[in-house]
Amino acid sequence: MKEGIHPQYFKTKVTCACGNTFEIGSTKSEIRVEICSKCHPFFTGKQKLVDSAGRIERFKKKYAKFKELQKQA
Ligand SMILES: [Zn+2]
Repeated sequence: MKEGIHPQYFKTKVTCACGNTFEIGSTKSEIRVEICSKCHPFFTGKQKLVDSAGRIERFKKKYAKFKELQKQA
């Protein structure tokens, strides 16, 4: 396999705001999220995140900014 034609592929540690961590395959070395399968109301069946919509909007904004930074890099 030729080197340099594939992005570097990590086993990425994802850290959630709730404290849960899990691993996925990604080109990023580390990912932080605010909601995961352990704390999302859809999975837990609880409405513990009353402001979840606002949190998701904030996350989307942050993610858009992150993508902008990636484009510049
Ligand atoms: Zn979580």
